[in-house]
Amino acid sequence: MDKILVSACLLGAPVRYDGGHSLINHPKIARWKSEGRLISVCPEVLGGLPTPRPPAEIQNRFPILVTTRDGRDFTPQFLAGAEMAMDIAQEYNVCCALMKARSPSCGNRTTYDGNFTGTESNAPGITANELIRGGIPVFNENELDELIEFIDSRPRDPQSRFSDEPIN
Ligand code: SF4
Repeated sequence: MDKILVSACLLGAPVRYDGGHSLINHPKIARWKSEGRLISVCPEVLGGLPTPRPPAEIQNRFPILVTTRDGRDFTPQFLAGAEMAMDIAQEYNVCCALMKARSPSCGNRTTYDGNFTGTESNAPGITANELIRGGIPVFNENELDELIEFIDSRPRDPQSRFSDEPIN
């Protein structure tokens, strides 16, 4: 069955910068999880950052620069995390990804603009951008309906031992 790369915090892992999580409670997520389809990654932790950690924002894209509010350079960790997440996506041959909105790593559509004022800019996070460039469709937690439609429209695996009965 198709595997789905998922931001670890959306599955309840306490890996956010503030030590919390962003768990999604949804029957489809629970179903996919029970089917072993979800591949959990936290790019920032993969890249070597601790939890909790200071929040960081993307300051520049060409070349990439990611810093904390007080100017600590997290660029190497963000780049390493993106590369490792992409390696995992390829290893599991994921069909798509469900990534946390607005994160400087995982956000698929917008991220904060680098001024730490909560202002968004229309550009993806470092990992999401890597996945998108690699041809992997990326959805966020506000696009679950679109993700479900995408998954449900894919051909079924005839060998699957799991029920294809729709839920919700
Ligand atoms: Fe969640 Fe991604 Fe941030 Fe990790 S890097 S805490 S998975 S949003």
